[in-house]
Amino acid sequence: MTSQKPQSRHGTGLEIVTIDGPSGSGKSTISRMLAARLGYAYLDTGAMYRAAGLAAMRAGIPLDDEEKIAALLDSAFDLELVPGPDDTRVLLGGEEVSREIRTAEMGLVASRVSALPAVRERLGALQREIGGRGRVVCEGRDMGTVVFPEAAWKFFLDASPEERARRRTAQLAERGEDADYHAILAQIRKRDHDDSSRAVAPLRPAPDAFVIDSSRMGMDEVVSLMLERITSR
Ligand code: C5P
Repeated sequence: MTSQKPQSRHGTGLEIVTIDGPSGSGKSTISRMLAARLGYAYLDTGAMYRAAGLAAMRAGIPLDDEEKIAALLDSAFDLELVPGPDDTRVLLGGEEVSREIRTAEMGLVASRVSALPAVRERLGALQREIGGRGRVVCEGRDMGTVVFPEAAWKFFLDASPEERARRRTAQLAERGEDADYHAILAQIRKRDHDDSSRAVAPLRPAPDAFVIDSSRMGMDEVVSLMLERITSR
């Protein structure tokens, strides 16, 4: 392994790594591990969409009411992302909602609000504000395609739906939560379909992204492969 402090590419000065991919591909764990190895910050943009969905639900706004959700994000969306040892802690209006937003149901809620252009515009601006400082690993669905097209290193992390459902089931069972493999597989397929077929910022690899299929790879192996790419240019 060569140096773990990469030089910025193309002289952009922005040391940004993007990791996009479908739900359950291991993005969060891998992004956190990679950020730790690089000494970079980690930005979990899925948490932002989940928090926006929760805020809309709590305000009683229908999840397809773009205008009202946009107004809510403009006026009363007090979001704080605090890096924790295992996960990003998410505070909404000062209240910790980290667990509440990370359920499968909230994933579907996030997916619905994330299809609204006005929501993407606002959260995208916030993401650019946070990530634009550089030295950051940004994880999501459109980091390399829309939010940070100038990023120095782009990865697209994939895995088969069955493998992703297997991982998610094991993860939930470990936390002592209800975990039905077939229900989870169905949710993953639905979210894949919704995220890939939406009109704005659909889930797809950036043309210059390095695609990794992690179905048969361990997390450490994926992180090593990424570090190799990063440090080699
Ligand atoms: O990554 P996570 O599963 O937490 O994301 C929840 C949902 O938020 C995704 O299914 C997707 O619909 C949406 N999302 C997005 N763009 C991002 C991050 C998440 O549309 N950059």
